[in-house]
Amino acid sequence: MNNCKISFDIGGTNTRFGIVAKECIFWERIVPTRSDLTPADFLAWIDALADETKDADILPASTPIYIAIPGQIQGNTLLRANNLPLQNNMAFPSRMILSNDANSAALAEYLYGAGQGYKTVVMLTFGTGIGSGIIIDGKVISGLNGAAGEVGHMMIDSRADAPKCTCGKRGCWEAIASTTALVARAKSERPNEAWTQNGEAIFAEVRQKNNESAVAIVEQHIKNIAVGISNIINIIAPEVIIIGGGIAEQFDYIHPRLLAHLEKSAYSPNTVPDLFPAFMKNNAGMIGAALAPKP
Ligand SMILES: [Zn+2]
Repeated sequence: MNNCKISFDIGGTNTRFGIVAKECIFWERIVPTRSDLTPADFLAWIDALADETKDADILPASTPIYIAIPGQIQGNTLLRANNLPLQNNMAFPSRMILSNDANSAALAEYLYGAGQGYKTVVMLTFGTGIGSGIIIDGKVISGLNGAAGEVGHMMIDSRADAPKCTCGKRGCWEAIASTTALVARAKSERPNEAWTQNGEAIFAEVRQKNNESAVAIVEQHIKNIAVGISNIINIIAPEVIIIGGGIAEQFDYIHPRLLAHLEKSAYSPNTVPDLFPAFMKNNAGMIGAALAPKP
């Protein structure tokens, strides 16, 4: 079982972990992320979960633990993770091999999912924020101090009263085009409507009832998504952009509308890349983490 690895995808809410070999997950569990722990206890918690996989008698006690984590990573140091109870500049033990979760997802899609056959791939995940992983000529771009790919924080609205972002600044793309931003705008424009509760309900109102105000909100949302994507196209010119997160479920609806915007807003229509929904969905983080090279 040389190909089997212990892999974790640690999110702000849930942690998935299990045994992975290439693009297959053989065994997994999902548990709530223990954000109440001290950093030392958090590491002990990871070790205890990893031990559960070793009980299966498949993996020896010395097996390394591959971890996708939503944070800025350099080598085996977590420089920063906003949604986890960990210290800045925290060194992880060498048995744990860290990757940024968005980069892990992009790598998994590139090798085994919607990015197969392409060399330059951008993966975007729309949810609470906007995550991204960038692969150029087959290589994950990590950048200075592991900070590449924070496309959610490119400023697209410089007005003083632009929507505030979780990073503390205003006018970031994710403050305008994440699913959180879509829901906030729907609630503000239609405060008494039940369909404004989440992104799925907003799209259902559009697709099943053709509600005029919901349609207008979603059309604006797709335009906001297109602004950021056309900036990415103009900088990187990827061959394919993979769309992940809940909005991938609406891909058939957004795809033609997004293309219409991009053909006008990208530098040239011939730089508009292929667009696909993510193939691996929630599995991409775990599969991608296990693809990280050993340091
Ligand atoms: Zn921001």
